[in-house]
Amino acid sequence: MCLAVPSKIIEIKDHVATIDVFGARKEISLMLLPETPRVGDYVLIHAGFAIQTIVRESVESGEVMHESSIALSILDIAEEQCREQGCSAVNAIRVRIGKAAGVLPDSLLFAFDALKENTVAEKAQLLIDVVPVGGKCNYCKQEFDVDGEPYIFACPLCGSSDFVIERGREMDVEDMEMQ
Ligand SMILES: [Zn+2]
Repeated sequence: MCLAVPSKIIEIKDHVATIDVFGARKEISLMLLPETPRVGDYVLIHAGFAIQTIVRESVESGEVMHESSIALSILDIAEEQCREQGCSAVNAIRVRIGKAAGVLPDSLLFAFDALKENTVAEKAQLLIDVVPVGGKCNYCKQEFDVDGEPYIFACPLCGSSDFVIERGREMDVEDMEMQ
């Protein structure tokens, strides 16, 4: 289960928006939104569709914190899973957050605890597994993990700049303990 991450709209053409996801460009559909957002607004995305608009001003003023939207997304998933499985409450939620995902675990915990009141996850504990950044070098063909800094500019094994980062940007709900 992937989390809905707020992404910034860079361009809009008809009902398709180009968004920025951690520096990568992606096209998504705006068909499900009741009103067309503006360039610069943020949208929450699910399966290639924008499902909610967060206007630029509220993000820039800090009114909507990045981690708060992620916490809300986690709570949405908890509600949905609970409904599907007919449970009454969620005791614990385990998420995997990549080191380079741009999320501060402390802020996420804080936001989650503040927002969980009056939801099925009211008494739930949020457990965060931080995934280190890792990748594969195209030159020496070795897999590597990056300790410390979340960003690297060369393969730590051979120094080549021809490498791909394969892990460390994920943001998933891994497991949920329900009753
Ligand atoms: Zn290498």
